[in-house]
Amino acid sequence: MSYTDGDEFEQVVLKTFKGESETRPRVKPIDDFFDNMKVEFPRNLRENYPIGTTFIATVKVCQKHNKDGSLRGPKYLKADTSTIDVHEKSKSSEEEMAVQKTGTQSGRAYEYIRRTGVIEDTAAESDFNQLREIAYSKALDLVESTISQAKIRARQEVIKRYALLRSKSQCEACEEPAPFLKKNGEAYLEVHHIIELSKGGADAPDNVAAICPNCHARVTHSGDANIYNTTIQNKIRKLEDAINKLT
Ligand SMILES: [Zn+2]
Repeated sequence: MSYTDGDEFEQVVLKTFKGESETRPRVKPIDDFFDNMKVEFPRNLRENYPIGTTFIATVKVCQKHNKDGSLRGPKYLKADTSTIDVHEKSKSSEEEMAVQKTGTQSGRAYEYIRRTGVIEDTAAESDFNQLREIAYSKALDLVESTISQAKIRARQEVIKRYALLRSKSQCEACEEPAPFLKKNGEAYLEVHHIIELSKGGADAPDNVAAICPNCHARVTHSGDANIYNTTIQNKIRKLEDAINKLT
């Protein structure tokens, strides 16, 4: 089969698979028709879904050119990012996720972590580190509309609980203790999304802050709302950086 540079194919099913040893996860067409050509595919999608997840996308045959116009290297496929949709999440009850190894500058070293059970099973778990791991692994931003509402809610719940635990019952904006305790004895704080979900913000640890009602009102209604939001964003980034160094 020969392909021409620029050929486009719609509705191609692509599947994530483990890279060799410690390399990042890759994507290949499941149809032999494409002769296992390499695929250019967004990295965050390769990493945020378990290995074996399939996506559907329009792909285009590409080949690099030298300055003189001659062709260089093998042909490859490029997934059109605006067309990517999740086809089927890996059915295995044991998810395998690619996680970038910490402390590597190149960002090319990965380890593959097996995790049993899905988010719903572990949402009740109050262990901070475990919640943190889940919160990060489920921090999707591109594909909100393609995953089920139940999954979105489950993730929101995890992120919320994560922010509340991280706050240690103090407002993450003004750093005052929570104003009161709820009936169940937990500190009352509200979870604020630094970049609104509707504006493309992610349900991710560094996009949420557990803040007191006063600060929540200020960051929503005050004249300096935007500035205050940036203040909160910087605080959360520092906090997450500090936790990253510890774990
Ligand atoms: Zn506050």
